[in-house]
Amino acid sequence: MRNQAFTRQCCACRCHKNKNELIRLTIQDEIVVIDREFKMEGRGVYICKDLNCVKIAKKKNIINRALKINNNLDIYDIVIKEITNE
Ligand SMILES: [Zn+2]
Repeated sequence: MRNQAFTRQCCACRCHKNKNELIRLTIQDEIVVIDREFKMEGRGVYICKDLNCVKIAKKKNIINRALKINNNLDIYDIVIKEITNE
């Protein structure tokens, strides 16, 4: 499935999706931020703009593990806010 539009895998449901259906999270100065332009350097993790995926990720703490950071459940609230504000 190469040579297709930019797709990335959601860390929760493992689906491959187009980037406009995903949120990218990365770390800047040890703080988790949302990379809206998909351009920031560093380790990143993708998640669907879907509250179910956020729920799954929160339950398993997937984002924290993917970004190798300490437990910080605020991340999930940030993602939920990002999704629901749109
Ligand atoms: Zn997903």
